Amino acid sequence: MARENASDALIRDYVLEMRESKCRPGENAWSAVLSLAQDVSEALPYANRVFDGDFYDHAVHTLTFRVGERHYAVRPRELCIAPVENRADAENAARDIVARLNVVWKDRDLIEPRFEGKTKPDLIALYRNLPRTNCGRCGRPSCMAFAAALREGKARIHECAPLDGPDFAEPMAKLVALLPDE
Ligand code: SF4
Repeated sequence: MARENASDALIRDYVLEMRESKCRPGENAWSAVLSLAQDVSEALPYANRVFDGDFYDHAVHTLTFRVGERHYAVRPRELCIAPVENRADAENAARDIVARLNVVWKDRDLIEPRFEGKTKPDLIALYRNLPRTNCGRCGRPSCMAFAAALREGKARIHECAPLDGPDFAEPMAKLVALLPDE
């Protein structure tokens, strides 16, 4: 049964701070850091299920996930959002994710909590099912580099054009099985 009480909201108040990306200094790349007035630890296993978290450590209450092009990292009293273009974009993104997290918390009785992070596929198993010609058509310097990008969710199978050939039907099926999000 979903809960209706507005005072039950997970996040009722926060302070937003803009930070320049440490990875891309000088490139006008920003992240937004929300200092949360409430501790959100209890909600994280439910958010991990709903947002299909990339990483979750229940012991230290840390969750990372993606929605579209944005990455989110949540700790008990902190929520980081990246990338954001400017303060207005950050404020919109903050309002949106806070509303989503509040819905997750309100509906927690309907959600099966997940206490583990996502397991990544084996790198060598991915590599073995690629053509292994290092042709570079995927934009990576080698098939191993492409396998690593697949494992991290930074590449899609279709970027390897040679896999479309009839000789690769079986490896392609294995790759799809290894990467259920494809
Ligand atoms: S396009 Fe495919 S075969 Fe070529 S380097 Fe990339 S992964 Fe390897």
